[in-house]
Amino acid sequence: MKAIVVGSGAGGATAANELATRGFEVLMLEAGQPFNPLTHRVSWLSSLRGTWFLKDENAIKRIFPHYHTIRASDDLVIFTGVTEGGSTSISCGNMVRAERGLKEIGLDLTPEYEEIESNFTIAPIPRERWRPLTQRMFDEAEKLGFSPKPTPKVDNLQKCVGCGYCELGCVTGAKWDSRLVYKELLARGITLQTDSRVQKVILENGYAKGVVVSHGSSVEQVNADVVVLSAGGIGTAQILHASDLPARDNLWVDVVLTVGGVYKDAKTLNEPPMAWFVKKENYILSPYFDLLSYWFHKPWKDVSANDRVGMMIKLADVEQGSVAADGTVIKSLTELDRERLSEAKGFATEIMDATGIKGPFVDGMIHGGHLGGTVPLTKADTETMHPNWLPKDLWVADLSLMPRSQGLPTMLTAAALALRVAKRISKEKGTEQ
Ligand SMILES: Cc1cc2nc3c(=O)[nH]c(=O)nc-3n(C[C@H](O)[C@H](O)[C@H](O)COP(=O)(O)OP(=O)(O)OC[C@H]3O[C@@H](n4cnc5c(N)ncnc54)[C@H](O)[C@@H]3O)c2cc1C
Repeated sequence: MKAIVVGSGAGGATAANELATRGFEVLMLEAGQPFNPLTHRVSWLSSLRGTWFLKDENAIKRIFPHYHTIRASDDLVIFTGVTEGGSTSISCGNMVRAERGLKEIGLDLTPEYEEIESNFTIAPIPRERWRPLTQRMFDEAEKLGFSPKPTPKVDNLQKCVGCGYCELGCVTGAKWDSRLVYKELLARGITLQTDSRVQKVILENGYAKGVVVSHGSSVEQVNADVVVLSAGGIGTAQILHASDLPARDNLWVDVVLTVGGVYKDAKTLNEPPMAWFVKKENYILSPYFDLLSYWFHKPWKDVSANDRVGMMIKLADVEQGSVAADGTVIKSLTELDRERLSEAKGFATEIMDATGIKGPFVDGMIHGGHLGGTVPLTKADTETMHPNWLPKDLWVADLSLMPRSQGLPTMLTAAALALRVAKRISKEKGTEQ
């Protein structure tokens, strides 16, 4: 039984591994190139801020080609990892269960969370490895009644040197990414082809029969018994539209806005990002040096890396955004998003102010990179894990299935959803062990 899995991120890696373990011959098709972390220091770029070289967010490609940038509106930029490992390769390594909206549709992913979590150690970065200012911000947040918690991470602490560049890949290999999920099965049940962008699904009489895939300028058709789309909230929707199938205009991105302040020689870039977090109903707050704002956002230009301090707001945004067959995304912040951001900015400033961090407190670039909701599961789908409008033998196994935004790290949830889907495919195809 042959399965094609499209994408090698959190969802694709998990689905491919599970299907191969259950006897499928798996072909993983990944649009990006093999992942390589950035190996040189980025300090040389500082003098180029504000010049044409770092003109806008698209210039990230010059520094680090694994990032894909999409401008969704004047007020929102989307970043995603198009590379082996998908967005997990550029993650901060935060690992939590993000379950907003699951109860509403009657989906309990506890068994999948437990199974995935049992494969690695999840623990916070010890407080003594945080920068002194980050420790003090934590204490002030606590005194102010915000109940901050150290962030659970999936890092090998022995290997972590605290360089702070997690989102540019991990040079020491301390940080988990989804490539580790299927490593053991490569060439033993799973074949991985990078630089292979799936254009569309081949459909015959209501069944998926394979995909059309391009490698550079060549295009070929590959057949399979099952096609699993794990190309992420945007990639999966794009492929569905290109195959004349619908996707929902329910895209969410978990909007990120970092409030920047100033503290002489804080050096908060030199620590693992997001060492602790405060959880509120619709967002989290977490100390974060936003490299993207530091490089590309003009209002952040006049403060050096050593002195810049940031407090990130990660907001569960209103699920309202569309993806077209050519990858165009249309999404902007709603009134409600802005109201919630405004409340969160007040709290972020309060914590920084209490720690002695100086203003002007300046908004960073508004961006998002947790992409979901375009193939949202409903109550009716949770048994089959197969939205009934999808053709037979075509499955989705990534964050697209998550109906609600989270305002929380999402790779564990993407993996848990994919694991449930893969088990279901195996059951339907009679390969369940
Ligand atoms: C900068 C950044 C930092 C993050 N940090 C964290 C964190 O610390 N903790 C956390 O939990 N979450 C984090 N996230 C979010 C998390 O990485 C994603 O939510 C998660 O990886 C989503 O899994 P996925 O399988 O849906 O998509 P992805 O992991 O993005 O995988 C999609 C894959 O599909 C491939 N693809 C796309 N289109 C095609 C196509 N047409 N053909 C073939 N392949 C295709 C892509 O190249 C990619 O490899 C972060 C995200 C970003 C952008």
